[in-house]
Amino acid sequence: MVDDEKVKNEALQIIGQYQNLPRLVVFDLDYTLWPFYCECRYEDETPYLYREVRGILYALKQKGIDMAVASRSPTADIAQAFLHKLGFQSLFLAHEIFSSWTHKTEHFQKIHRKTAVPFTSMLFFDDEDRNIEAVSNMGVTSILVDDGVNLDALRQGLAEFSLKASSSHSRRSMNG
Ligand SMILES: [Mg+2]
Repeated sequence: MVDDEKVKNEALQIIGQYQNLPRLVVFDLDYTLWPFYCECRYEDETPYLYREVRGILYALKQKGIDMAVASRSPTADIAQAFLHKLGFQSLFLAHEIFSSWTHKTEHFQKIHRKTAVPFTSMLFFDDEDRNIEAVSNMGVTSILVDDGVNLDALRQGLAEFSLKASSSHSRRSMNG
């Protein structure tokens, strides 16, 4: 068993290294927060997460960084039931869970409408490169995960976000 508290403290340390932080962190569900497709599960099953996920979500919450879910799962009812069982129902400002032919651009439009957070102030984690490509074209810092969200992915995400934020800031100040 991982010690969620230990992961959370390590995540807090990582977050503490950056001044330019995202205002909203958006997560895919299947193969990003949990290691399965929830459409292949039953609502009455007990869901489980990748091992470092809970500690990371609690660290972001403690730092006052808002979170949201963007999933193309065709079984929103199962996904919502699992989020509820994990105690995450109120952790996320928005749950956009619907299947769509767009690679989550529609999900992000809705999240933006609900939260008013600009795309450039968002950080996104997903395991599918098509989603990463489409969403990063909208201006969202987007990180491809291949073994779920973990501390390494968090580190990479915050580093890329911070780099992007500082380069757009220096471009702005150069332009006057
Ligand atoms: Mg996925």
